[in-house]
Amino acid sequence: MIHYYSCYFFLADNLLKENLELKEQRPCKICMACETNVVFLPCGYFVSCAGCAPALQLCPICRATIKGTVRTYVA
Ligand SMILES: [Zn+2]
Ligand SMILES: [Zn+2]
Repeated sequence: MIHYYSCYFFLADNLLKENLELKEQRPCKICMACETNVVFLPCGYFVSCAGCAPALQLCPICRATIKGTVRTYVA
């Protein structure tokens, strides 16, 4: 198991949300702890949290080189 320390800051908050009603939120496929909130460019996959994205050079889904990321926010 690889641990991404930056995600731990969000973990408690994420568990709280899970216990409320936001079941639709998708967990980050890298750390499985944070909610997914970053889109990779140019492939467009939505699988990572903002804490994990900087550590990735290739998209874990399609293996495309990540040229940039877009932070998304749920209102
Ligand atoms: Zn993550
Ligand atoms: Zn991709």
